[in-house]
Amino acid sequence: MYKYKKVRRISSNLIEDANRRYIVSLDNHVELMEALAAFCKDLTVYCGQVRGIGAISEATFRMYDPATKQYVDKTFSEQMEITNLTGNVSQKDKQPFLHVHATCSREDYSCVGGHLLSARINGACELLVEEFGDTFAGREFDEETGLYLYKF
Ligand code: FE
Repeated sequence: MYKYKKVRRISSNLIEDANRRYIVSLDNHVELMEALAAFCKDLTVYCGQVRGIGAISEATFRMYDPATKQYVDKTFSEQMEITNLTGNVSQKDKQPFLHVHATCSREDYSCVGGHLLSARINGACELLVEEFGDTFAGREFDEETGLYLYKF
């Protein structure tokens, strides 16, 4: 589902070792969010950040309307470049919880983007995952917004 390499440090000490960074290459044709979640679970990354680029054949974004507290999902089934993927990793129900946004460019160079629900890799997906040591960042349901917000 993925290949990875730990980023090496020039000098090694306990603090730096606690903040692990990984170069991650997701396998072709896998579903991005599923593979990233599997990586985080396997490598026990429960607090950190993710950024990356890639090429995909399909993406589903989710728009949340705070007024109605309803989600509207939209799928784009076409070849696109992930021009930017930015996200964070926290912990919910003892599992890695991903919150990822992405901007994707189409054949005509216009872009679509938003809160990423899923994406099918078609080409490559290259990510940098940085773990923030043993920092705990959980999630808690917030009545006002209807969202699972950070719980520190
Ligand atoms: Fe979001």
